[in-house]
Amino acid sequence: MTTLTMPQTDPNLGRPTLATPFVTVALPLGLDRTFTYALPKRLRGHVITGQRVAVPFGKGNRTITGWVVGGLETTDLKEVKEVTELVDTEPLLSLDLVDLAFWMSRYYVTPLGQAFEAILPAAVRQNAGFKTIQLVVRTEKPEAEVDRVLSKQRRVLDRLAESGAPLAPRELARQAGCTVAVIKSLEEKGLVRIETRQVDEFARDLFIELEEPKAIHLTPEQGLALQRIKNLLAADTFGVLLLQGVTGSGKTEVYLRAIAAVVEAGRQAIVLVPEIALTPQTIRRFRERFTQVAVLHSNLTDVERHRQWRDIAEGRADVVIGARSAVFAPVRDLGLIVIDEEHENSFKQDTSPRYHARDVAIMRGHLVGVPVILGSATPSLESYQNVRAIQHYQESRLAQRVGGRPLPPVQIVDMRLEAAERKGQHVISRPLEAAIDEAWRKQEQVILFLNRRGFATHLFCVRCGHVAKCPDCDVGLTYHTKPGILQCHYCGRRLKPPEKCPSCSAETINYWGTGTQRVEEEVSRKFPEIRVGRMDSDSMKRRGGHESLLSAFRDGELDILLGTQMVAKGLDFPNVTVVGVVNADVALSLPDFRANERTFQLITQVAGRAGRGPKGGQVFVQTFQPEHLTIQLAANHDYDSFAKDELATRQARGYPPFGRLARILVRSQSRQKAAEAIQAFAGRLIEPARIAGITILGPQPCPLAKLSRFWRYHILLKAPTAKAFLHFWDRMRTDLNPPGGVQMAIDVDPQSTL
Ligand code: ADP
Ligand code: ZN
Repeated sequence: MTTLTMPQTDPNLGRPTLATPFVTVALPLGLDRTFTYALPKRLRGHVITGQRVAVPFGKGNRTITGWVVGGLETTDLKEVKEVTELVDTEPLLSLDLVDLAFWMSRYYVTPLGQAFEAILPAAVRQNAGFKTIQLVVRTEKPEAEVDRVLSKQRRVLDRLAESGAPLAPRELARQAGCTVAVIKSLEEKGLVRIETRQVDEFARDLFIELEEPKAIHLTPEQGLALQRIKNLLAADTFGVLLLQGVTGSGKTEVYLRAIAAVVEAGRQAIVLVPEIALTPQTIRRFRERFTQVAVLHSNLTDVERHRQWRDIAEGRADVVIGARSAVFAPVRDLGLIVIDEEHENSFKQDTSPRYHARDVAIMRGHLVGVPVILGSATPSLESYQNVRAIQHYQESRLAQRVGGRPLPPVQIVDMRLEAAERKGQHVISRPLEAAIDEAWRKQEQVILFLNRRGFATHLFCVRCGHVAKCPDCDVGLTYHTKPGILQCHYCGRRLKPPEKCPSCSAETINYWGTGTQRVEEEVSRKFPEIRVGRMDSDSMKRRGGHESLLSAFRDGELDILLGTQMVAKGLDFPNVTVVGVVNADVALSLPDFRANERTFQLITQVAGRAGRGPKGGQVFVQTFQPEHLTIQLAANHDYDSFAKDELATRQARGYPPFGRLARILVRSQSRQKAAEAIQAFAGRLIEPARIAGITILGPQPCPLAKLSRFWRYHILLKAPTAKAFLHFWDRMRTDLNPPGGVQMAIDVDPQSTL
């Protein structure tokens, strides 16, 4: 058990302490406004912006916790309720995090209370894993000052003295062989004091043995990149460095060295990685180099999460590594933020506040005045363009793989020819089949990637064209073998497959479209001796299933690793010589302006798993659109040409990174209510949008028009600049109140418009 210690540095430096008669308070209610409360005299001068207070709310005056966000000398309100008490004796959030909450609330059009809630984890707010205990402490008062000490009382005092540390009343009474009442009488005499303390029961495993780091000599490119970062660190100011390095070029090694410099200077670093890249392999690389590493991932229990948060806040972590929300880690002396795979859309939160962790990280770096490193083999076009347009941005490139290994040659396989020249349906093309066969003979390994899980992605009637759809979502159902069921990939609903067409009763139901299960089946049929491991969210339900499959593959117990995104990211297996992208068309056909960018990123990432060892490697990209420019350029590892072409298209259409997008989404179980609400919003937006130079696209039904019984409509807004949006939302945000039975969401910089 450890007693709580409070941060030694003052986190409130530069933050106003409020001594005003009134304060404004943000409440976590989803209401986009703040509330005014009177500040009792005893609390004036003791409250700081961002501190939590308990306040009465509503007719019944139930107590809720809010955040103080400002002071007021007067108010026009007739009736003002009073702040009840402070919830935290010390404020939990440092100044930069409070500032970040204000920024997020404004930029992402989110109620302030929700912005604070995103920053301070629920586990911390609810004090998970802590309990309040009482301890008996001997006071300074000499026994001589007391009339008489009874023998029972004497035994208690002796026990306490022998123990050398405070004891809980009950425990002390047990040891002294008396009742708690005896201790109370000692308290009345002033000989002991009963103190209330908060303790945690966390086991600490933060400190682990450091391994001797392998002697790695940086390549000249790595050395240059590191020097750039060190210059930024030395300048002790905000700046962004885009580290664009091909897969296997040693980006992580550069981060590790940069962080070492930060830690040596007594400061802390935050490293953000996509959730699926937060593997034991990744964490190990950091734990090998640094003694105090805190890991924040989505699988933590509340108690674990709270413990990690405390460790970070109290200075017991030099490096914080985590997914999206780790950007809010309460480090005391932030020195550097690293975002690996900065192009990943999993950095975008899909509930309110819909923040992008990369952009929040850049804002935090700006607020604190420290450098931010963005790493990627395929930077988002936003970051790529920012390097060219913004003064604070610079770039460093790692064009070579470590050890002079070449990037693997990529062969585009025309699936139209495969369909024309072969009998039957084949998911695996002839060239890929031959390469798998050869790799297997040489005891080398293969990774196969496919974006879809399940067996067949559509079920339809050959006679009438009826397609099996989820009754709750306007989405086709996926057929899964073992057990044979139809599943909705959006709401999870499971149904029995029909034997006859529900529409025309013909027994001509056909399965179409390929999922990972079908690939697995075909591979097993073609190569009965090959051992295949399938990794998708279906096969990975068990905790730890992911890691055991990967270690089986690493140990050579599997020949082929087949799966969805999970196999595309970050894996480093030198014995993999063949990589196959089973269907490159899936991502290309998404109705989203980023479809080309996503496809390029995906092919590059998957291809990057090949040829990481001395045996080299080759990549096969199967597609029905072999002449598509994106696929051609990805096959040539030609990011710059891709970026140039795609940026030209975006610029012509005013899409990001040249303009900004926002989306207003309306949902209701009633189709009519949703449609009416979005029409009403559209009408109200016309004039303010015109003034701000903002284009309105829609309203229209979302591409996914119905999800989990909710009908969905949206409006897309296109602004020339982020500033135009800020002013627009400042004026509009309180005007967009949805009617009853309708939900509304505003998504600024949406990553998906489905
Ligand atoms: P990236 O993050 O760019 O994909 P990594 O940092 O994971 O690349 O490096 C790939 C592999 O090369 C890792 O196993 C790493 O330990 C190793 N490596 C990195 N830099 C060097 C170097 N300068 N010399 C030798 N090996 C290196
Ligand atoms: Zn569904």
